[in-house]
Amino acid sequence: MSVHLFCSPFWRTLEDAALEKWQEEPRDALILVPSTEMRRQWLTRLTEEVNGVCGSAVATMERFAEHIAQQATSSPHRLAQPMELQLAALEVLSESNAQWRTAGIVDAFLNAVEELELHGFTPDEVGKTFSGDALITSLVTAWQEWKCCLNKRYLWSVGDVLRNACQAIGNQKVSLPQRLLVYGFSALTDLRWEFLRRLIDNANETFIFVPYEPTNESAYRYAQPFWELLQDTFKVEGKKLTDKVLDEMSAIVKKAFQWQKEKPDSELQPTERIVLVATAGEEQEVETALRLLTVWRREGKLERYSDALLLARNLEAYLPALEAVSARYKIPLDFVGGQRRPAWGLRQLLWTIAEAKRNGLDGACLWQLLPSPYLRSDGKPLLPPNKHAKVLGLLRQSLAQTRAEEWQKYFAENLPELAQPLGEFLKAVEALPLSAPACEHARAWRDLLSRFIAPCHPTDEPILNCLWKHLNILLSWQTELSLDEFVASLTELCTLTERTHTDAVRVVSITEGRGLWAPVIVVLGLCEDRFPQMPPVFELLTDKHRERLQRRLKTRLRFRRSFLAAETMLFLEAIGAATERLVLTYPRTDADGKPRARSLFVEAVENALKASGWQWVHQEWERDLADVLPRSLNEALDERDAEQWAIFAPSSPSGKVDKRAIALTANLLRDSSFAERLRTEWCRWAKPQRGKWDGKMPSLPKSIVAQLRELDLTALEVYGRCPFRFFARYLLRLKRPKEIAYTITPDIKGTLWHAIVDEFLRHWQEQEKMPDEATLHQIADEKVQEEMRQAPQVVIDLLQEQLGKMVACIWRAEELEAEEWCLVAIEEPFSLPLRELKEIAREIVEAKKIAELEKALKVLGEVTLRAKPDRIDKGRDGFLRVADYKTGTPPSQKDIQDGVSLQLPLYAIIVERSYEQQVGQACFLRLQFTKSGSYAKACQLVAQKQGSRSVLLSEMQQVALSWVCEFLKGIAEGDFCVRPFEFEKSCRQCDFKALCRCHFLRITPRKREGGEEGE
Ligand code: SF4
Repeated sequence: MSVHLFCSPFWRTLEDAALEKWQEEPRDALILVPSTEMRRQWLTRLTEEVNGVCGSAVATMERFAEHIAQQATSSPHRLAQPMELQLAALEVLSESNAQWRTAGIVDAFLNAVEELELHGFTPDEVGKTFSGDALITSLVTAWQEWKCCLNKRYLWSVGDVLRNACQAIGNQKVSLPQRLLVYGFSALTDLRWEFLRRLIDNANETFIFVPYEPTNESAYRYAQPFWELLQDTFKVEGKKLTDKVLDEMSAIVKKAFQWQKEKPDSELQPTERIVLVATAGEEQEVETALRLLTVWRREGKLERYSDALLLARNLEAYLPALEAVSARYKIPLDFVGGQRRPAWGLRQLLWTIAEAKRNGLDGACLWQLLPSPYLRSDGKPLLPPNKHAKVLGLLRQSLAQTRAEEWQKYFAENLPELAQPLGEFLKAVEALPLSAPACEHARAWRDLLSRFIAPCHPTDEPILNCLWKHLNILLSWQTELSLDEFVASLTELCTLTERTHTDAVRVVSITEGRGLWAPVIVVLGLCEDRFPQMPPVFELLTDKHRERLQRRLKTRLRFRRSFLAAETMLFLEAIGAATERLVLTYPRTDADGKPRARSLFVEAVENALKASGWQWVHQEWERDLADVLPRSLNEALDERDAEQWAIFAPSSPSGKVDKRAIALTANLLRDSSFAERLRTEWCRWAKPQRGKWDGKMPSLPKSIVAQLRELDLTALEVYGRCPFRFFARYLLRLKRPKEIAYTITPDIKGTLWHAIVDEFLRHWQEQEKMPDEATLHQIADEKVQEEMRQAPQVVIDLLQEQLGKMVACIWRAEELEAEEWCLVAIEEPFSLPLRELKEIAREIVEAKKIAELEKALKVLGEVTLRAKPDRIDKGRDGFLRVADYKTGTPPSQKDIQDGVSLQLPLYAIIVERSYEQQVGQACFLRLQFTKSGSYAKACQLVAQKQGSRSVLLSEMQQVALSWVCEFLKGIAEGDFCVRPFEFEKSCRQCDFKALCRCHFLRITPRKREGGEEGE
């Protein structure tokens, strides 16, 4: 028996050395690897090198042990699948200790049992060691039952497999490989070690290849004990292989985590082979990484996309971004390893079916479920396309209806031809159990799947087959499961299994991608809490338990305190996968824009590079929210990108202009409207408020602004809230389509209330006396029916019920109003030419503002200001009052001073001018009532001071008019900057968020910047 030991921190070096040894004598040689993905990688490499090889030439340790154990037994035992381990755990935990049956504890139980089993402990041994510990006693009982539960189904745990395999080797019952190549292990548990030792003892020659760097103990402290154990046990001197890698890469693995002092900056040598990308959010992170690969590919630094490997510690967090960016730029991705892309369509279908069952098949759930293209009946769509509208209309009319039988009757009356298939489908859904043994769930789902669900795309077929197999396995399990637990186990299988055969960027999680290497490695998600990950929150075995158990072991238990060492090892292995270039990326902000700290691994790499005299290039690829891609023609990915950039570059006042850009522009500028559109868009996106572009658009043709003929007072308030919002709404005339809502929103309530009160006051004016309460009720009912025509009856009923209670209060409040005020006008429209406004303003506001207004009038001279107060009343003292109804929070006096509420003071000016009578009061009437039953009033402005707290109308008119002058000047000058008054108040209800990319990191709100006075 001879043993040879080699190490290298680089996978390619290790793999080449192992391949060389294998080629010396391939017959009878076995390559033993730790993971399935590493085995697949080896088989591919051997196929490339020797044109094909038998699959048994490479094996994972567990599968090989299973193979040996099976040779020595006549029973049909096999290694249990993860799902089977989980079902057995659920079964025993619900029987013996029901409160342990929660997702976190089941996982903790399986982790603890696996850790103990892999170190060769038996339940009895552990029970005796901790005889007084109640928690461990429960664990041991459950563990014993769990093993029985598996064994009676002829299933082995990993511990069983390894123990049986060791026994079989000891009994000399099996044939074993004579040449052994042990590749890619960085640590082993006691039982695995025992198994490996027996294999080595029986082999003539063994070569062991460990991913390890002996000169950097602080970084590789996870693999160090294994390395030393190998050297001590086999009395061999480990050999460090010679790496043919770049100096920068070598510097990282040798110096990382030693935290040396940096060399002075002047000596640092820039390297463009190691890049740091910091971006806003995951999507930009993935986008920038893929752009970088594309640029390198174009420049010949990356031969093919498949030469790049994208690694992420938590790949699931990146799946949506990866799919979105890949689809947007048509860059194919190849998901390797067990983490496949989720088949969203089928997952959604299964959850919708479960939801429908849980809600008793109510109309709202069926509305979502029935149009699914996966639903079939006798080979035909369950809902033929020409019947979609009809069925959905019927569902909408009976949203609250439930039960399959009721639905079948309902469809029989309204759509007899579909009543039978729909009824049968709904009965099959109704038959799904909410909580039952796994086998009953499986039976009901098999029935549903076989009769009503069919693939709509070739990729669905393998998934449905897999679901079918899974359901067959579950038929032999009695574990009590809820519907949600059962559906969760099904949806996990809904993943796309096909691999792409085009040139694609490979994507894999860091744990599964161990051993893969590529010229370019991209490590995503290097931010705090993501990589290094945190240890599991809850564990059944604590470090104190481990300390007592550790004394009997040769190898290390999984101590919580050494979790960081394991994560560090994973990171170093990811670095060791790169042969030429390395890209490290992290999101600098989360989805809400909150800053995130970069991972300590990034610091370690930067420190190691600097200590070795290297400096990575990160400025160019560092991104912020304000950055928009591309920033140069080179960065452009596709033609559209290039065109956008090319159009902007030559017309920008600064910046180098490249000949290719001029050529492209010349070509494109033939279409002038296209050019104008692109330039405007570019300005908006490329140079936001904080950048060079201040949001002003003097180039915007005056004629466009001059097209404004009328301006509502509310439009000026919108300008005060945010100039860009005004631009989008009143100049671009953009409007977001209203969403169909089945809930009663404050908007709906507000509109209805206005309509009801308006109608009520008109009746009052016509009849010259206040209508009675019954009339108000009748008006309310009619208005609800009229305004809510599209809504389902249940929503109308609910609204009528809510309004019914309010109507009595409103009637009483109007009665009290009538005691003080005599109604003069309801919703009367007024218009005031801006030129006349100038004359009014001249007497009130300062000369500087008048000069601003005069400038604005050169462009907006023909514009008229429009206003429509909700009501005008006359008081007993002969003065007028203007009032507006408000359902939500009314504006305050402070809002007038900030220029975001102009209505009341300007109403007063316009009404006074039209009626030629003084306005004594202006206020908002709220849909809230005082103790006496009158409307609660807000923002009351009065002509005569009545107390120290009353606010003078004339003062507010001066403030409001000053703002009007300033806003009109801004509009005339084309100042449509993205400058919200306040994020909270201005942006919350704004429809144009997606357009302006409002974010507090890139935009300064007006209020904060200018204080009380504004800018
Ligand atoms: S979301 Fe905010 S910043 Fe963007 S347009 Fe609307 S108000 Fe302006």
